[in-house]
Amino acid sequence: MPLILHDTLSRSLRSIAPLDGKTLRFYCCGPTVYGPAHIGNFRTFVAQDVFRRVIEQGGLATLHVRNLTDVDDKTIRDSQKAGQSLTDFTRLWTEKFHTDCAALNLLPPHVEPSAVAHIPHQIRMIQTLVDRGHAYATPDGSVYFKVASFADYGRLSHLEDRELKLGASSSANATDSDEYTKDSLADFALWKGKKPEDGPNHWPSPWGEGRPGWHLECSAMSLEYLGEDFDVHGGGVDLIFPHHENEIAQSCCATHGKFARHWFHVTHLMVDGGKMSKSLGNLYTLEDLKARGYTPAEVRYVLISGHYRTPLNFTLHSLDAARQALQKLAKFDKAVREVASISADITGTAPGPFAPAWETLNDDLNVPGALGDIFATINRTKAASLTKDEAVAALEGLHFLLRALGLQLPPSSDEVQTDVPADITALAEKRWQAKQAKDWAAADILRKELEAAGWIIKDSKEGYQILPK
Ligand code: AMP
Ligand code: ZN
Repeated sequence: MPLILHDTLSRSLRSIAPLDGKTLRFYCCGPTVYGPAHIGNFRTFVAQDVFRRVIEQGGLATLHVRNLTDVDDKTIRDSQKAGQSLTDFTRLWTEKFHTDCAALNLLPPHVEPSAVAHIPHQIRMIQTLVDRGHAYATPDGSVYFKVASFADYGRLSHLEDRELKLGASSSANATDSDEYTKDSLADFALWKGKKPEDGPNHWPSPWGEGRPGWHLECSAMSLEYLGEDFDVHGGGVDLIFPHHENEIAQSCCATHGKFARHWFHVTHLMVDGGKMSKSLGNLYTLEDLKARGYTPAEVRYVLISGHYRTPLNFTLHSLDAARQALQKLAKFDKAVREVASISADITGTAPGPFAPAWETLNDDLNVPGALGDIFATINRTKAASLTKDEAVAALEGLHFLLRALGLQLPPSSDEVQTDVPADITALAEKRWQAKQAKDWAAADILRKELEAAGWIIKDSKEGYQILPK
C-alpha cells in the first residue's frame, strides 16, 4: 500500500514512490543549534520520523539526511555572548538535541551534515551560480542570488511577485540593514562579507573573507548526499518562504533544473491557543515537561496526536490524556500477552486486526485517525476470549502500529484508571472548569457527586486524574 502524502508544490495528495524504486531519499531542514529545541521544533521532527517509519514499514529503504545549522546570525551572536568558540557552543547544543531526539524515540538520520563542515561545498555552488549569471558579488564582499534570473521563483509558496518583494524587503530590513547594495529587494545572500560582529567566524572565499548565507547550506548538502533530484524535502511551514523557495532557486540554477520532487510541510504547534514564544513564557522544552513529571513518550504521543497539516494546540492537560491513552495501550498489551503466553519483545510483523489503522496512517499520515482505529479495535477485542493464535496476531498487529508511530509503552499500571465512563469524564471536566473559574462551591458539589458515583479526583497544578475510589 503506497503512502499518500500532501505535496506543497502541487497542492495535491500524491503517492510516495522513490525515483529508483527502492530507496526513498529524504532531506529535512535540521535544527539551528544555539539553544534547546522546543517542542514546536519537535512536532516537525517527530512528524518526519513517523513519515520515515511508515515508509520503512511499507517495505522501502530510506536515505534520511537532516542538517545541523551551526553557523548563522543566531549561533554567532549567542556563542559570543556565552564567551565560547562557535564550535564549542554549537557542539553543546547539538549534543543536547541528540539527547532529546533519543528520548523522543526519533530514528537518527543516516547523514547529519553540519554547515560549517561543508563550507567548500557551498563556495563551489556559489561559484557555479556566479558563472551561470544567477548571482553577483557586491563591494562589501557579499554575493547575492539574482531572483529575477529564475523564472520559477515563488512557485512553492504561491506568492504573487508583489508579495514576494514586500516579504523580502521587510525581512531584509529587519535582519540586515546593510543589504542596500542588492540589485533587487528580493535578492538574498549566498555569501555574507565579513563584519566586525562576526568575530573570528569567517572563512576565505573567492569574494573575500566571510560566511555562507543560511539558505545555501541545504542546497549544497542535499546535492552532496542525495544528488540533484531526490524524493522528498521536509520542514515546518515557516520554512516554505523564503527558505525553501530560495533552496529551490539555488539548486535548480546550480544543477540541471531539478531538486526535490515532493514537499512535506508540518503545520505549527501552538500553545494555549497562541504562538509559542520566549517572551510569553509559553515555550516548552522536553526538559521543562520532564521536570513537571511527564515522560518523553507522553510528549511524543501529544505531538503526533494532531494531523500534521492542522495546527495543534498544546496544553499540559493533553499530556494527562496521553498518559491515559498509553496506559490503555499497555493494559491491552498485557492482557493479550497473557493469552498468547508471550513476554518477549515483539517486532510487529503485520498489522493483522489493526489493518484499518495502518490503512488510515497511509492516507496522508492520518495519525489521529489511526489512533482512533487502534482504540476501536482494542475496544472491540475481548482479550480473554481470543484463541492463542488470535492473541498472537493481535499482539503483532498492535506492535506493528506502535513501531510505525514510534510509541513506546509504559509499564502497565493498574493504578491508573483508563476505562472511565463518559459521564464521569464529563463531570470531572465540568468540575475542573469550575475550579479554573474559581467557582469553589460548584467545584465542591461536583467533587462530591463524583465521589458518590465511586470516583475520586487527584489534582495537580496542571490537571487532574480520575481514579476509582
Ligand atoms: P530551527 O531550529 O528554528 O531551524 O527549526 C527547526 C525546525 O522546527 C524547522 O523545520 C521549523 O520549521 C520547525 N519549527 C519551528 N517552530 C515550530 C513550531 N512552533 N511548530 C512546528 N515546527 C516548528
Ligand atoms: Zn533547509
